[in-house]
Amino acid sequence: MEGVVYLNGEYLPAKDAMISVYDHGFLYGDGIFESMVAAGESVFRLEQHIDRFYRSAAALRLHVPVTKTELANAVRETVRRNNLPLSYIRVVLSRGPGYPSLDPRVSQQPTLVILVHPRTIPERDEGDGTEQTEVRAITVILASVRRIPSEAIDARIKACNYINHILARFEAIDAGADDAILLDTHGYVAEATAANVFAVYSENILTPPLGNILEGITRATVMDIARELKYTVLERHLTPYDLFVADEVFLTSTFGGVIPVGKVAGRTIGNGNPGPITLRLRTIIHAMRDGKPVS
Ligand code: PMP
Repeated sequence: MEGVVYLNGEYLPAKDAMISVYDHGFLYGDGIFESMVAAGESVFRLEQHIDRFYRSAAALRLHVPVTKTELANAVRETVRRNNLPLSYIRVVLSRGPGYPSLDPRVSQQPTLVILVHPRTIPERDEGDGTEQTEVRAITVILASVRRIPSEAIDARIKACNYINHILARFEAIDAGADDAILLDTHGYVAEATAANVFAVYSENILTPPLGNILEGITRATVMDIARELKYTVLERHLTPYDLFVADEVFLTSTFGGVIPVGKVAGRTIGNGNPGPITLRLRTIIHAMRDGKPVS
């Protein structure tokens, strides 16, 4: 990995940015993170991401060693130093190093890291999430593993623990699909492995309510824009059936933006191609985040 990394107040070459093997983030997944994207030096929805980061920290009794303004400045400065046209940003805070005991009091010094990457994942050839002439509708499966319910850990906390989402990804890979949708423990649609889910019926756009999903920032942006465009946007519990019979299904995330879904668990959605409302929202959202004019 190349580039400049922010580590506990310092800007270091990526190869020199090291953390302890005793870090409780590594030993127990005891930490939180945020993912953001930037176009040049402009970070999309920076304030909302920082606010969610602080909410996750408060919920897990993690001390953020900098103020919100300092963190926002550090994110901007790391982006500036990496000097990429389109970047993907990861901010991570862990409980920090300490004796390998579950007792949180042994970790006194939290670890704060900011990573900035180009938006292409080297091992996968899926483009950089920017507008392409041909937008592909992805295929998803319904994972057998369920979304961890908020009774166990509140789904709004963006914690460094995605084990069941990773297992769901394995299921998708095994099935030759692009991603997986996880149901909650009641059997309702929760979210994809790293994205929220929407279903379109005529001019109505439905998405699962908060409860067992991450409070996605792209989800909120899409809901706002769709309402401005005079669509009816409703938060409703959805079952797999509701996805199978939708006119359009799409996913939303910081990394991917608005992603059309052409197939859910073998059922073709609409005609299998990206739907018109999905594409309309995608064009607007991608223009907003990547700094291109909205046509
Ligand atoms: N759900 C999960 C589990 C995620 O990891 C993400 C990605 N952060 C999302 C939803 C989408 O949230 P956002 O739009 O804030 O990236």
